[in-house]
Amino acid sequence: MEYFYLCHVNFESLKITRSFLNAIEELGYTDPTPIQLKAIPLIRGGKDIIGIAQTGTGKTAAYLLPILQKLNYAQGIEPRVLVLVPTKELVIQVTRNATDLAMNTDLRVLGLYGGVGPKTQMEALSKGSDVLIATPGRFYDLYHRGGIFTKKIKRVVLDEADRMMDMGFFHQIKKIQEILPSKRQNLLFSATFPEKVETLCEDFLLWPEKIEITPQSTPVTTVTQQLYAVPNFKTKLNLLVHFLNS
Ligand code: AMP
Repeated sequence: MEYFYLCHVNFESLKITRSFLNAIEELGYTDPTPIQLKAIPLIRGGKDIIGIAQTGTGKTAAYLLPILQKLNYAQGIEPRVLVLVPTKELVIQVTRNATDLAMNTDLRVLGLYGGVGPKTQMEALSKGSDVLIATPGRFYDLYHRGGIFTKKIKRVVLDEADRMMDMGFFHQIKKIQEILPSKRQNLLFSATFPEKVETLCEDFLLWPEKIEITPQSTPVTTVTQQLYAVPNFKTKLNLLVHFLNS
C-alpha cells in the first residue's frame, strides 16, 4: 500500500508551486524522497515536527521547500526564517541548497558562521535577508552586536540536532529560544534520537508530530548497493560464493 503511495506522488501533487518545480527540475530531482513525502504536507500545514532522518535522505529540501514557498518573495530587512546547524560546513551546504531551490525567486538567503570576522556578515545583514542559516554561536554573537532583529522570525529549524547536542550547543539554543517570538513554527531534524534531543524537543517544540522514514527505504549513506543481473540460480550461488571468498 505504502509502496503504491510512494510511487505515484510527485512534487506537483505535494502542491509545490511552479517556480520551485522549475528549480527542482533544474537540479535534477525527479520524485520526492520518503522524508519529503511525509514532511512537506505537515510543514505546509503549519505543524511543529520532529524528523528522524539522516543526511542523504533529502531532508534539507524536505524542510526548505515548504518554508521557502511560504515566504514567497523578499520582504523588508528582517529575517523571517532561521535554520540552525552545527557546523560552518553545513551552513555553507544548506545555504547553497536553499539558494538553488530559490533560484527563480528574489528570496535572500544568508549563511552565518564563525572563523571569519563579523564585519562582512554584519554588512550583509544590514542589507536585508529572508532566511538565515547559522551556527548557534555566530547567530547569538551577531544578535548581541545588534546585527539581527528576531521579531519577524516565524519559522525555526534545528537541523542535525543530535550533532548540535554532541557539540554542547544545548544552552546556546536555549538562549536563542528566549530571544525568538514565542508564536512560531518549529522543525527539528536529527539522525538519532538520544535523551538530550528528546529534552530539546520537549523544550523547543509544541505538540510536535514525529516522522520517521522506514529503514528499508533508506540505506545508510555508507552502504553502497550494486545490482548484478545473473541468468540463473546456479550463477547467483557461484557469484555469492565468489564474493564471500574474496
Ligand atoms: P540531504 O539529505 O538533504 O543532505 O540531501 C542529499 C542530496 O540529495 C542533496 O544533494 C540534494 O540536493 C539531493 N536531493 C534532495 N531531494 C532530492 C530528490 N527528491 N531527488 C533527487 N535528489 C534529491
